Amino acid sequence: MFAYSINRGRTKSYKTLYNEPCECLYCQNFRTAYPKLCPHGNALLERFGLSVDSALEVAEDGSENSEDVNYTAYFCVAGTLTADGYNVVVRDTSDIRLFKPSTREAVYNNTDMEEPYYILRLEVNLPWVLESRPEPINQ
Ligand SMILES: [Zn+2]
Repeated sequence: MFAYSINRGRTKSYKTLYNEPCECLYCQNFRTAYPKLCPHGNALLERFGLSVDSALEVAEDGSENSEDVNYTAYFCVAGTLTADGYNVVVRDTSDIRLFKPSTREAVYNNTDMEEPYYILRLEVNLPWVLESRPEPINQ
């Protein structure tokens, strides 16, 4: 008995219909840095029928004492999940967990995909790899 199943075809067509990648520099940095620095996690996304372009939402959190950006990205996967919060083993610094739509965890749940689906949450720290940087928010 597997903890989750994946309908790659339906996941991919959902991505095409609903997901417009955000053009802000933080998101661009995520999409550039992640495949380069976390190839195993990136290959896992592809196995789910996802890619760095297909996130529902990418949240970023800069750290005061490091150059790294802490990213949390949410994706929608067509398929079934039996274990809420299931931790997918990744052989790099990414943390990937799967949540049911009914989870009590604070996940990005706004999706127009028809059930059955679940939410994939990716957490990762990435360095800044783009030439341009966002304007500092704090003075
Ligand atoms: Zn963005």
